[in-house]
Amino acid sequence: MPDLFTPPIEERRDSLALILGLPVKLRFGRSGTQPVVARSPTKAELKREPHLKGGRVIILHKSFEDADTEVWEDLASWLRNGRRSRAACQRLDAWIDRLRVDPVPLPSKTRAIGDQHRLDEISERVINEHLALELVDQKTPAITWTPKKRSTARRGLRLGSYDASRELVRIHSVLDQAAVPEWVVAFVVFHEFLHAVIPSRRVGRRLIHHGAEFRKREAAHPDFLRVTRWEKAHISRLIRSARTGKLIRGSLS
Ligand SMILES: [Zn+2]
Repeated sequence: MPDLFTPPIEERRDSLALILGLPVKLRFGRSGTQPVVARSPTKAELKREPHLKGGRVIILHKSFEDADTEVWEDLASWLRNGRRSRAACQRLDAWIDRLRVDPVPLPSKTRAIGDQHRLDEISERVINEHLALELVDQKTPAITWTPKKRSTARRGLRLGSYDASRELVRIHSVLDQAAVPEWVVAFVVFHEFLHAVIPSRRVGRRLIHHGAEFRKREAAHPDFLRVTRWEKAHISRLIRSARTGKLIRGSLS
């Protein structure tokens, strides 16, 4: 099963490196005035990471983390071809402009009560049943449905994400519909809360999000197999629903 939850930064970095044919160091920043920086590594960086010689250091605004695959593809062709990739450039500029006008929503704008499912109630139950020992009240991350907008992603779909810097869990609003059973939403919530309990760790240059301990805890969840099967069976309909904005008829059981 592909991991639909968190495309790790090293995967993004590796695909940019492959497209550019150069070693790449990728990190996320918060600069609104310079949302995309691509430069040669400094002497200090080269001293720390000699493998970056001849490569690029790419610093992107944090919003790229949650950006659709198409935005990443446009970014890659802009980095490779510069202004010669005209269509990609225009789309990327438009996306960045929206970002300037419309900064990443802060936790104060969270929306836990959906049309169909209540994330406040679901998360309380998930914590009581599975994470009570670790997630005491004051450490419980905030939770929100993502804004309802059509997805332009061609391939994957992130059903949830955990933003450690804001202690915020986001659940994709495509799951907020009657066709999606509550136990599916609850499992995605569990997966994301688990990221708060088992933080990503750095091994050498890699950041491991789903290490052995994480996978073990996830697999011990009583609904793990059921959700895995459900996701495999229905992900294409979810992707279609996210793209078209149309609700799925009937029930996906
Ligand atoms: Zn994850």
